[in-house]
Amino acid sequence: MITKARKLAKELCANYDLTGPTGTKNWCWPRDTVCRFYTGDDPERCGYFEEAVLPTDPGLQIAYSSYFGAVKVSQSEQAGPGPVITNRRQCKCGKTFTRKSNRQLLCEECSRAEKKKKSRERKRRQRMKKAV
Ligand SMILES: [Zn+2]
Repeated sequence: MITKARKLAKELCANYDLTGPTGTKNWCWPRDTVCRFYTGDDPERCGYFEEAVLPTDPGLQIAYSSYFGAVKVSQSEQAGPGPVITNRRQCKCGKTFTRKSNRQLLCEECSRAEKKKKSRERKRRQRMKKAV
């Protein structure tokens, strides 16, 4: 999906440039940084792209929506039985869950456990520092 989105951004996005002012590749002018789709393996959604570029490729629009969650569509397009857009994702524990944000990668239980683990580790490190 992202490969296609990148290609489309390169071809059609008005904000995109092959090289930025400092020679940085895949530049996004309004945001003054690298294009969201080129930041790595976990790209972020882009509002401008969704509005201006994505509608030109309905196939990609569907793939994009299932990757990032529903794309905002204008009233006229919402009428009728559009594609079913899911915002569900599978967690590492095998459970499927509904994402509340694009960054959410784990189900609620797992993310809570993960947080606990992290704060435990932090505390342990602090204790170790004190002991030295
Ligand atoms: Zn889980």
